[in-house]
Amino acid sequence: MASVLPRQVDVAIIGAGIVGMSTAWALAKAGLRVAVFEKGVIGGEQSSRNWGWIRTVGRDHKELPLAMQAIDLWKEIQAQHDVGYRQTGIAYLAESEADMTGYRKWLDKALPLGVPAQLLSREQLPDLFNTQSARAWIGALHCPVDGVAEPERATRAIAMLAVAAGAQVFEQTAVRCLDRQVGLAKGIVTERGRVAADAVVLAGGAWSRLFCGNTGVNFPQLKVHASVLRTTPMDAGLDLAVNGRDFTCRKRADGGYSVSQLGASVADLTPDSIRLCRQFFPAWLSEKKYLKLRVGKRFLDELMMPTRFGAEGPTPFEAHRTLDPAPGMKSIGVALDKLKQAFPAFASAQIAHAWAGFIDVTPDAIPVISGVDEVPGFFLASGFSGHGFGIGPAAGALMADLVQGNTPRVDPYAFRLSKYAGH
Ligand SMILES: Cc1cc2nc3c(=O)[nH]c(=O)nc-3n(C[C@H](O)[C@H](O)[C@H](O)COP(=O)(O)OP(=O)(O)OC[C@H]3O[C@@H](n4cnc5c(N)ncnc54)[C@H](O)[C@@H]3O)c2cc1C
Repeated sequence: MASVLPRQVDVAIIGAGIVGMSTAWALAKAGLRVAVFEKGVIGGEQSSRNWGWIRTVGRDHKELPLAMQAIDLWKEIQAQHDVGYRQTGIAYLAESEADMTGYRKWLDKALPLGVPAQLLSREQLPDLFNTQSARAWIGALHCPVDGVAEPERATRAIAMLAVAAGAQVFEQTAVRCLDRQVGLAKGIVTERGRVAADAVVLAGGAWSRLFCGNTGVNFPQLKVHASVLRTTPMDAGLDLAVNGRDFTCRKRADGGYSVSQLGASVADLTPDSIRLCRQFFPAWLSEKKYLKLRVGKRFLDELMMPTRFGAEGPTPFEAHRTLDPAPGMKSIGVALDKLKQAFPAFASAQIAHAWAGFIDVTPDAIPVISGVDEVPGFFLASGFSGHGFGIGPAAGALMADLVQGNTPRVDPYAFRLSKYAGH
């Protein structure tokens, strides 16, 4: 990756996760001078720690146009670098009529948007699984064009595409703050010096609220702790990715399976969760069966973290190069047990490795992909709420449209930051 900082670029991007790198790729392809600045390593936080699902199934309908466009981009990426992208199909399994009714309602809205998902009956499931199931599923919501890719490879591959198109990427280079002149974003100040830019894109994942707050911009965002395990390589037959409600699993390119469950997510009480409790309360109510609330050390850690910092001294971004929280072994152990009960072929599955990450969430679980009205020249692509790996390439392309003032490829209205103003 690059070493000497440029003095001036067209667009400076903060954060080399999948969203920042996809934005850089799209802008570099359009011929702009782009530089990406990353406090740690490419894809070191959420983008390498996720389940690897690329799905339309179950998504908020506002995200479906992006999810459909992302499929074409994933094919383009896979054609140039092996990121393990495969359209395996994804199935959400149903154990009750209430589950099926929920899936039917989702499907009624998704079909007109061109999503080729379908409801499957009990009788159709054995062919789908290719292995025996011991649980009495009554059907499933299935989308055959959904799939998986390997998170450990994907963001680095997109970085290589961006660099090949002319972008520069600087790892171990924290951005301390925006260089603001007469109210406009005129560049960034990094720990290694200033870089002037006509536009600045913040794709900072779980750090975006802190960066925005220091710039005087309120971005309502919290962090949710989520754990995952991978098994040793095994042949269990199951190839498609499956959400069984109390477990999820998908086949990996290394022959093992990534296993988790929605209920393995933990929302720690932090000063921000108190500040934002009114905005997040409806989300918490609807997700509470999947989310454990926890009071612990993170409250004090975040309370002690400076929220205002300038260009001269070190900032929290240098102090935390890569968020690497410990996994919740109990909850992912439960997920593996549930998987074994549901599919006996997993009876001998062994845990090879477990890890965790912080998912950055917004009050409506929809990302912000938007200009920041208060600071012309400053753009935000963040708050992907657990969906940013699959839609990341299309989200980056949309951000690139907004930065260039092009007609956006999908309607960005649902993703505007200003919807949170006045709360
Ligand atoms: C356990 C888990 C499972 C998930 N499963 C899925 C899934 O199956 N499918 C799916 O679509 N999504 C999934 N997600 C969500 C997905 O991983 C994220 O939405 C996506 O990776 C977000 O990408 P990003 O680029 O916005 O953020 P990140 O990948 O978090 O990248 C942000 C980067 O910005 C850097 N940064 C921040 N501030 C600064 C600064 N001031 N200076 C320099 N650098 C900075 C950080 O170091 C970081 O590398 C999951 C997430 C987790 C944690």
